[in-house]
Amino acid sequence: MTSPAPAHAVVTGGGTGIGLAIARLLVAAGHPVTLMGRDRGRLDAAAAALGADARAVACDVTDEASIVDAFATARTYGPIGVLVNDAGIAESAPLSRTTLASWQRHFDVNVTGAFLCQQQVLPAMKAAGFGRIVNIASLAGLQGFAYVAAYVASKHALVGLTRAAAAELAGTGVTVNAVCPGYTDTAMVSRAVARITDTTGRSAEEARATLAAANPSGVLVTPEEVAEAVRRLVADGSQTGQAVVVGGGDGP
Ligand code: NDP
Repeated sequence: MTSPAPAHAVVTGGGTGIGLAIARLLVAAGHPVTLMGRDRGRLDAAAAALGADARAVACDVTDEASIVDAFATARTYGPIGVLVNDAGIAESAPLSRTTLASWQRHFDVNVTGAFLCQQQVLPAMKAAGFGRIVNIASLAGLQGFAYVAAYVASKHALVGLTRAAAAELAGTGVTVNAVCPGYTDTAMVSRAVARITDTTGRSAEEARATLAAANPSGVLVTPEEVAEAVRRLVADGSQTGQAVVVGGGDGP
């Protein structure tokens, strides 16, 4: 008996950083992949570099109409069996100076975006009796960090959404898990380093070392380590409702 072909995977935020590493690993594992994000030029370049099994579809996960259109386009490339909600933003400010607009932006992208994308794929996944949803949360979805209250709260909410969805979908063949990386070496961390150097006068090396020291391993996580955790959850449907920590230092 031949095993079923690897399912079509949608990766939001798939044009950069962790999302791109996930897309690369899923393509290598034989999955056709659709990358979603707002920057069409960057997505097209990423898809071209990934080869014939990758496509780019523009999508703003804060805009429901954009999500509906993007998933309708993605479905024309084949039924969606895997959804990786990677799109996310992180801004930093002391709690007392966190604006309502920033608070709402975090929830719009990091939680509501994942909720709406999930709704796009669930009916067909349930009907097919197969689906893998992986939400890229954060260590900040499980513990507190200073000066990023909106980010921490939104990532806790994403872990909550993951657990609720997993409970509701138990026994359907659809698994829903979160991956919770520590500080990971992407543009997001480069932006955090730039903010720290601007506000504290510390060197970029010192700022990177401070962030790395917050990880369980004391080193920055690589995007490939996060991608490997996602690949395992996609390949193995035995876990659901889990928040898998990627602490760094494990290699890809
Ligand atoms: P990047 O900034 O490289 O990735 C963020 C991605 O999200 C981009 O591809 C961006 O694409 C996409 N995105 C942002 N807003 C929207 C939107 N409104 N609609 C659609 N896509 C959007 O950083 P990372 O790769 O590091 O981050 C990826 C995920 O990993 C995020 O959810 C982040 O919170 C999480 N994470 C990151 C950690 C880190 O230390 N780097 C640690 C733990 C978790 P575009 O601009 O084209 O829209």
